[in-house]
Formats: sequence, C-alpha cells, structure tokens
Amino acid sequence: MINVIREPLIFEISSPGKTAVKLPELDVPEKKDLLNGVPVRNDIEGFPEVSETEITRHFTRLSQMNYCVDFGFYPLGSCTMKYNPKVNEKVASMSCFTSSHPLAPEKLVQGNLELMKTLEKLLCEITGMDAVTLQPAAGAHGELTGMMLIRAYHTAHGNPRKYVLIPDSAHGTNPSSAHICGYTVKEIKSSEKGTISVEDLARVMDEEVAALMVTNPNTLGVFESDICQIADIVHAKGGFLYMDGANMNALAGITRPGDMKVDVLHLNLHKTFSTPHGGGGPGSGPVAVKKILEPYLPVPVIEEKDGQYYLNYDRPQSIGRVKSFYGQFLVMLKALAYILALGPKGIREMAEVAVLNSNYIRKSLEGIYHLKYDTPTLHECVFSDKYQKDYGVSNLDIAKRLLDYGLHPPTMSFPLIVHGALMIEPTETESRRDLDLFIEAMKAIDREAKENPELLKSAPHLTYVRRLDEVQAARNPILRWEKKE
Ligand SMILES: *Cc1c(COP(=O)(O)O)cnc(C)c1O
Repeated sequence: MINVIREPLIFEISSPGKTAVKLPELDVPEKKDLLNGVPVRNDIEGFPEVSETEITRHFTRLSQMNYCVDFGFYPLGSCTMKYNPKVNEKVASMSCFTSSHPLAPEKLVQGNLELMKTLEKLLCEITGMDAVTLQPAAGAHGELTGMMLIRAYHTAHGNPRKYVLIPDSAHGTNPSSAHICGYTVKEIKSSEKGTISVEDLARVMDEEVAALMVTNPNTLGVFESDICQIADIVHAKGGFLYMDGANMNALAGITRPGDMKVDVLHLNLHKTFSTPHGGGGPGSGPVAVKKILEPYLPVPVIEEKDGQYYLNYDRPQSIGRVKSFYGQFLVMLKALAYILALGPKGIREMAEVAVLNSNYIRKSLEGIYHLKYDTPTLHECVFSDKYQKDYGVSNLDIAKRLLDYGLHPPTMSFPLIVHGALMIEPTETESRRDLDLFIEAMKAIDREAKENPELLKSAPHLTYVRRLDEVQAARNPILRWEKKE
C-alpha cells in the first residue's frame, strides 16, 4: 500500500549549512573560474540544503507514491499495460548497443542494421504485410506517417482527395493525424453492435475519400467482422484501408491485418510488444504497408546487398524523413527480444490469454456494472457507471475509490460513444489471483455505492494526495515553490 505520510517539499526540509557531501580541506591552491569566464551562478536563492540521508529518503518516498506495472494491476484500457520482462531491459542496456553512435558508418553497425531488418521481417510476418518502416516514434506518429503515404500515393495519381472516414469510436489521435495531413474528417456512426455499419459506409464512400481509418478490434474490444467487405467497399472507390493496430494484442499470432485486405497499419511496440510506457515515452510506432505503398516509405530504408546492410536514401517517391537517425532503436531491441523470446506459439498464446483474461473480468462483472454493447469482446471490455448513477456515483468516483484498494483505475470516459465509460484491459500478464482482487474490489465498490455513496464521492481516502481539482490543476498549475513568509 502507498505510504500515507505527508512528505514535505524538499525546500521545507532544508536548513542552512546542511550538505550531502563534505570534502576535506584543500591541500592544493584553489582554482577559481574553471570555465574560463563563462558566467556561473554561485548562489541560487532558496536552494535546498539537505543531508544525504534526507535527499535519498525524500526522492525514494516520492518514487513510491507513483504507481507502476511492476507494483500492481494496471487495467488502463487501450493502453495495453502489460508487464515488461526485465530481460528486454538487459538486452537494450548492453554496452554494444548503448555506446554505438547513430551516425557510425554502416560497416561498423552491420549488427544493428541486421537486428532492425530482422524486426521488420518479423513484423511483416505477424501482420501479413509486405514492408515496414521502424522510424515513427509512437502510434500517433505512425498514423501521421501512414496518412502521408496515402496522400503521397493519391497525389502521385493526380488527386490527393479530400476526406478520411473515421468511426465515432476511434481514438482521438486518428482524426488529428488525418487533419494534420490535410484531410477533412468525416465521422461514421457505430451501429448498435458497436461496429461499422457496412450500409452507412457504402453510402458515404466515394472518390473524394482518401482512406478509411479503422481500429480492429475497435476501442470497445469488438472485432470488426465485416472487415473484408469494408475493405472491398473502400477499394472499389480507389481508397485505402488504414488500420490502427494499437489493439494487436488481441490478434497477434491468430489472424493478420494483411489477410483482412488492410493496406497500411501502425503497431505500438510499446503496447503489444512490451516496452514500458506512460510518463511520455519513449515509444515506437512502426508502419507496415502493402506493396502498393512501399515506394513512398520514409527514408532511409534498410536494404541488403551481397550480405551487407546499408541505408538507402535514394528513393525518389519517398515522403522523406519522419525521425532522426534510426528511430527509437533501443525500443526496437526490446520488442525484438520479446518477440524472439515468445516465438510464434508464444505470441499466439499472448493474444489468447489477453482475450481470456478480459472475458473473465467481463463475465464476473456483468450485471453489476452496465455493458452498453452486448457484442462479444476480445482483449478489453467497456462498462459504464449507469447502474451506480442511480446512487449519484460516477465513473470518476469509482476510479478514485479503486485507488483506496491499491489498484490503478481503468481508462475513463473513453470511447466517447459510451457515457460514463470504464474501459478495462487486463492484458495476458495478470494472474487469476490478480484478476480476482480487481473483481472483488469492483464488487465491493458497487456495494459501497448503494450503502454509502458519500464514501465514494469523497474518495480516495488512503492515498497520499486526496481528490484533486483537476481543472484547477490544469488551468493554474503551480510550478514554482515560493517561500511563505
Ligand atoms: C494508444 C493508442 C493510439 C496512439 O498511440 P501512441 O503510441 O500513444 O501515440 C492510437 N490508437 C489507439 C486505439 C490507441 O490505443
């Protein structure tokens, strides 16, 4: 459990003259101005003065106030917060990788290039696509890259087109990527099953539409089972089918987007292929394409000739560079280590257990929490606060109360088509025991909602920081400590 002591600011611990390190008296002449006249700040007003014990304990305590996947269950839907095996970190921290310079000549980094090529080939096999670029630094960056490929193709064929179709259940990055790429987004409404309606799509699809962006399984966890028919409708008008592959944890090793007639998709190595994420990165969002889009891939492209790997920049139709150097090389290594450790059977089992775990939670909480869509789901399920609302309790109150049970809350209020959403994705790395602890906590919270709703509305009670005014915190952040007189 989180330690509920009030940890002061480091400025408040400070007292004059304390220092972490005491050096012996100088026995050589003191040399001033070591920086040859570069101005140095000798005094920072109010700079904290603390002992080594104090500074160590202060930052250790702060670190323990954080929640992480190494501490416990982290069911943040859509984010695939799986446990990341430590062997990945070991591989990525090997000095042969960390000390190789990104501008080193190709002949000195043949091994690095070979590893990246190997990862590209494995991702092609897993997705059923023809070529991969590893450069994009995140899923959203992959989406933008994918949209740029589509735009480059259409432009080369005489007309970039105007619109990109996106279902109303999509992740917010989808419309932003299409918009940044110069397209106008047309939203398509989900059917009552929570999927794309083939009839609606056929009605809006025309020759001004550059692409349809679909997430499969979608953000409700529902598989778009009409995907091949959807692809045919889009292709018949010369459009492309873009798949947001953030949910590949449900499919990998079982089925392949390439076989579903998808033309381009991004993967999130930091979700599906186990790299720690959250707190801002680093991520990696490779983009996989069919042959038709391959000429437009960003430069450089890793190629092989006579057993030597090299970076090819001579690609006249390329959209250009999207990232410096190789992209997020160490993240690629972690993903490669993970894929090779699991092997084809292991990858399939990963997806199967992810789906099993999610359905175990779904079945255990059905009837207690409201499920707007009754359609079978894969790796995640989306409940809502509809039943608890009768007692004045919202999804926010439920999420905050979960903190008192020592659990990270699910994703809230997304997808937008479910009011008061609680989107739960357990991933395959959770044991039956951990799933049960979460289920018991969710059941207990439902009982509390009926018996003592006030307890939930003022939650959390046991955490270091109580309920925050999030609007105030976002609008008027206090980023500087000022000494109180
Ligand atoms: C996470 C996610 C994205 C964006 O990926 P980032 O790596 O966070 O940029 C896009 N779509 C879906 C469905 C996601 O879950």
